[in-house]
Amino acid sequence: MADVTKFISGIENFQQQHFGQNSELATSLLAGQKPQALLIGCCDSRVDPALLTDCAPGDLFILRNIANLVPPYKKDNDYHGVSSSIEYAVCYLEVSDIIVLGHSQCGGIGALIQSVQGKEEGEFIGKWVNIAASARDKVMEEMPDAAPEKLARACEKEAILVSLKNLMSFPWVRERASKGQLSLHGWYYNISTGQLKYYNQLTGTFEVLVERYSPNLLNAQEIAPK
Ligand SMILES: [Zn+2]
Repeated sequence: MADVTKFISGIENFQQQHFGQNSELATSLLAGQKPQALLIGCCDSRVDPALLTDCAPGDLFILRNIANLVPPYKKDNDYHGVSSSIEYAVCYLEVSDIIVLGHSQCGGIGALIQSVQGKEEGEFIGKWVNIAASARDKVMEEMPDAAPEKLARACEKEAILVSLKNLMSFPWVRERASKGQLSLHGWYYNISTGQLKYYNQLTGTFEVLVERYSPNLLNAQEIAPK
């Protein structure tokens, strides 16, 4: 059996950090949860939403799946894990924000791009990522000569827009959004630079929200004369 000591000591560190000096937090969490936002992120181990946003327990209601996708609203007898999570966050917890957090180097989006060559990944993955097939087709049509890396980055962003559009197909999301009770956000995190972009609905482009991480820049600021 693999050694899981690292995870056990992690729980101990977590207890110290969040509950050791902060009994108020433990008391309030016991009373129930009231997260501000539902964050829909990818399962990718490099983009843990709570770590990235430096959030405490209770801050975020998090839904993770391959390629941070939202399927369209469909009421039938299938098992709808994603839709039930969204329903709980919106209708029961009454979050005020939904953030779809995409990221660079996404394996799920890679599988989506591959599937155009008739190579469908796994038993479930290929079918799942097909939710964003329209995003793939759009970027392939708009950038037919783009290098694979560039195409993948564009498709990762475009897939976020598909999820935002599909969110609006849920009647109770649409209703709350139209009344201004719920805001939808599309974010894109670049693993290699740490930069965060957001989708600006007015300009129709992804714009910088948090600048890229640059150790050189930080050093330069430290030694710069005041
Ligand atoms: Zn991913």
